[in-house]
Amino acid sequence: MTIPNLNIVPFVSVENMMKLVLEIGVDRFLTDLAAYIEEDFRRWDLFDKTPRVASHSHDGVIELMPTSDGQLYGFKYVNGHPKNMREGRQTVTAFGVLADVGSGYPMLLTEMTILTALRTAATSAVAAKYLAPKGADTMAIVGNGAQSEFQATAFKALLGIDRLRLYDIDGSASRKCAANLKGQGFDITICKTAQEAVEGAHIITTVTADKQYAMILTDNMVGTGVHINAVGGDCPGKTELHRDILLRSHIVVEYPPQTRVEGEIQQLAADHPVTELWQVMTGKAPGRDDQRQITLFDSVGFAIEDFSALRYVRDQLRTIPRYDELDLLADPDEPRDLFGMLLRQATKQTA
Ligand code: NAD
Repeated sequence: MTIPNLNIVPFVSVENMMKLVLEIGVDRFLTDLAAYIEEDFRRWDLFDKTPRVASHSHDGVIELMPTSDGQLYGFKYVNGHPKNMREGRQTVTAFGVLADVGSGYPMLLTEMTILTALRTAATSAVAAKYLAPKGADTMAIVGNGAQSEFQATAFKALLGIDRLRLYDIDGSASRKCAANLKGQGFDITICKTAQEAVEGAHIITTVTADKQYAMILTDNMVGTGVHINAVGGDCPGKTELHRDILLRSHIVVEYPPQTRVEGEIQQLAADHPVTELWQVMTGKAPGRDDQRQITLFDSVGFAIEDFSALRYVRDQLRTIPRYDELDLLADPDEPRDLFGMLLRQATKQTA
């Protein structure tokens, strides 16, 4: 048996991540990843949990998102800068690390910009599995930027949603989204207003980017029985829904101490009742009570979802080795002889 070289850290570049996703298949990747996320949410108590550590600035935020299940440790570095898109850059970009708790050694370093879009979409679809009305087949997507096609694809793969109603303040974003989803089995309508987009939709996904208290949905736009998947409001001072919608909704969140600061519910009193997604998954709390209820998944993105994504990628690399070997860890012949290793390199360089 070959002993893995623990000093070599697999590194998944953006190019290798794309190859990995395409070799696995986007639908299967999303479905498998959703299963990893559910598995980890079902063992919620095992995890170290902390709200992410955010560094806010005028134009955006940089965040660190750590967690551990006692065996593995993971963290993600992620930013959110709505203005970036206008400058030809991503609003959200990320990378992450998975490490072995026993030795503290990193086991994986990977791009997580694509992986974040996949894990956000998979988490939204998992939540909707428990919260969306029975027989839902139509979803409005308001905000047709980088995350939107991933959301659509996950909802189709996990829930069979195949009718989309798209709206974006920038019509070219909706046309891009529709073009990217062409031939994937969707019936797509591009709408002129958010009001038009939500008409007849059983699920409403809001995934816009703006660093302000935005009003993507007003109370009159939300009829009984819909499920709202609110993805874009994920920072203090950055929300998408009118407060009155929240007051009518059964609200499900990832991790309350983080969501109360970052999510739609920052608009509510600190003790407003919310349900945690892991409780719904494990049957400890109800999902949807009846067909007339408005359910809201107030998504902000939590570290355990990234941990699941890192774990999933680590497992896939065993059979699909799409990575480079990264010389990240010092490995002197004698562990205490770090300086000697440097001296031997100096000799090699002058030779
Ligand atoms: P993006 O910049 O690529 O796309 C955002 C889109 O929203 C743009 O096309 C823009 O024109 C549109 N938009 C802005 N204001 C609008 C309005 N009032 N009405 C309709 N459309 C509007 O950003 P992205 O990468 O798709 O991310 C979208 C949002 O999702 C960001 O706010 C990001 O922080 C958030 N996000 C959340 C999670 C999570 O886990 N909850 C994960 C990733 C991203």
